[in-house]
Amino acid sequence: MSLSDSPFFQDAFTQLENAAKIMNLDENVLERLKYPQRALQVSIPIRLDNGKIKVFEGYRIQHNLALGPGKGGIRFHPDVSFSETAALAMLMTFKCALAGLPLGGAKGGVKVNPEELSQDELQALTRRYTTEIAMIIGPDKDIPAPDIGTNAQTMAWVMDTYSLLKGYTIPGVVTGKPLSIGGSLGRAEATGKGVVFCINFAYEKLGKKVDRNTTVAIHGFGKVGIPAAEDLYNQGAAVVAISDVSGAIYNKDGLDIKKCSEWVQSGRLLKDLPDADHISNEELLEMDVDILIPAAIDGVITKDNAHKIKARVIAEGANGPITHDAVHTITNKGILIIPDILCNAGGVIVSYFEWVQGLQMFFWDLETVNKKLYDILRSSFDRVWDCAERYKVSMKQAALISALEILEKAMKTRGTFPG
Ligand code: NAD
Repeated sequence: MSLSDSPFFQDAFTQLENAAKIMNLDENVLERLKYPQRALQVSIPIRLDNGKIKVFEGYRIQHNLALGPGKGGIRFHPDVSFSETAALAMLMTFKCALAGLPLGGAKGGVKVNPEELSQDELQALTRRYTTEIAMIIGPDKDIPAPDIGTNAQTMAWVMDTYSLLKGYTIPGVVTGKPLSIGGSLGRAEATGKGVVFCINFAYEKLGKKVDRNTTVAIHGFGKVGIPAAEDLYNQGAAVVAISDVSGAIYNKDGLDIKKCSEWVQSGRLLKDLPDADHISNEELLEMDVDILIPAAIDGVITKDNAHKIKARVIAEGANGPITHDAVHTITNKGILIIPDILCNAGGVIVSYFEWVQGLQMFFWDLETVNKKLYDILRSSFDRVWDCAERYKVSMKQAALISALEILEKAMKTRGTFPG
């Protein structure tokens, strides 16, 4: 179990060190931010449908709790590892800080391919994982949410298991829950909606408007990609390509997003969609479009393909889709990157709203949720844009510097124990 195992963690680490140097971050604050505050590794034994026991490996990692309880998703994916989870927890620290939320950064995950488990097996896995991490989560400690491979149903099982362990119903232990048990209106589509808000803010700064001449390609047509595609489609943009793990589809005049979304949400793969022009995920990333939204997994734009990217704006829907060594090539080509900790913060912002609503047992209408989401992202975007101008750096570096300015103040005010 080593932090340096994953290139993703090394990337997050290098970006942190670079931003710290530019802004002259207090060296003691930097030293503390290099390590997760708390990490729990668990073994999760599950009886499979065939009667055999199989043990899965899981994690819950809290990177920094200076601003409040931990916040971050639970990922079910075969590539989950200690160092990847630690990197994602670190990103959550910066994301929450940048949005001005009273929350710290955390992340969890189980190394599993959820496609290979039945619903009963998935439920058993989720409930046993929750039991194993129950000692460090809770509405005042650390509040998980969905991520790759998990969804509202998974959160319902986490909430139910945690509540049974404590003996009373505790909706505030997770966010991204179904509406019937205390979810928030607008949570499911919040990340994608936030991505589109940020694209519009960027276009406004560039003196442009998203309209029917705007072409978009979306890598990853899931919980982030689908609502982003729907909002851009409704705004009149031509979403010319989308993809999932099975491959991509393309239509130069714009895809019928409603039809594609119904297809995918009924559990089918894009490679099986009839009457579509099929291309590869790699080809989608290299398309000549106005806006590229990588919304699948990390590390899809690297030094190997960065020089082939032709989009004018890249909106990072996923966490860490552009590796650190590719960022220079991309920005030198004049491509504007809307960085992940800003661009996909809509999810954690509405998760925060869900947590607040759950604690108060008072629920808001959709208009209130979306208005508050817009307001927070607007001010975060403007803060990052101004910071980029102040330090003469890219938006990617400016987002991190803006988050570090907030964290530095909080961490220095709280001090280090023992002093
Ligand atoms: P999801 O599981 O709902 O969707 C992921 C999509 O990516 C699917 O279309 C899947 O088929 C595709 N995909 C998976 N592996 C792939 C691969 N190797 N190559 C190409 N496509 C692949 O997940 P999601 O919740 O939409 O999350 C996507 C990304 O956004 C992740 O990086 C996640 O951490 C980040 N994110 C999600 C949220 C959220 O609210 N869901 C919030 C912030 C950030």
